[in-house]
Amino acid sequence: MLVDNLEKINQEIQLACQKAARSDNDVTMIAVTKSVEKDTAKKLAELGIENMAENRVDKLLEKKMALEDFPSIKWHLIGNLQRRKVKSIINEIDYFHALDSFKLAEEIQKRSVKQISCFVEVNITGEESKHGLKSEEVIDFIHQLASFDKIKIIGLMTMAPLDASEQVLRDVFSKLKKLQSAINNLHLSYAPCTDLSMGMSNDFPIAIEEGATFVRIGTAIFRGA
Ligand SMILES: *Cc1c(COP(=O)(O)O)cnc(C)c1O
Repeated sequence: MLVDNLEKINQEIQLACQKAARSDNDVTMIAVTKSVEKDTAKKLAELGIENMAENRVDKLLEKKMALEDFPSIKWHLIGNLQRRKVKSIINEIDYFHALDSFKLAEEIQKRSVKQISCFVEVNITGEESKHGLKSEEVIDFIHQLASFDKIKIIGLMTMAPLDASEQVLRDVFSKLKKLQSAINNLHLSYAPCTDLSMGMSNDFPIAIEEGATFVRIGTAIFRGA
């Protein structure tokens, strides 16, 4: 059942916060609905879920339309965004988690009617298969965004390697945390960089212990439901 899964996830979030002496108010769970149909997303909304994510533009638009009775839901685009699709989505979302190029930032600046909260996606391990900037590129990239008044860099996002050991996960998450703190310490008005989008079904308790403020959870919500 969805309710039971949500309850269990909530408990795990609280436990991880306790372990790390953090307040659970500082951690937002985003429900990733890419693997389920509209009706299931709707059930989540009825259960009070306030943050929903999709990794594809068309799917997000479809879910958002189906959930128009829930106008307070915050919509997160967590997947890679092609420049030609920016126009159709950028004014429909509240958060974009995968900013990783200057050209994409230019297009967002051009098409957005309001300021949008963005995460810069970072590829901490440098795996070729992954999206995101390399760690050493991130600070220069953020400096390049100074004149873009439609883009607010609220934090950094990463995807940890699948099936990594706990030690590797901690290493990845703590590296992202370090980079986030370094950017936060630059005190750039357009890049407060206070947040960390990291942690998925398999690794969110560890991500929270290492400082995650947004966890993106799919499978664990829908298991057996
Ligand atoms: C699918 C997805 C998630 C959720 O993954 P689960 O393992 O199902 O929790 C989180 N982040 C991104 C970017 C995703 O594409």
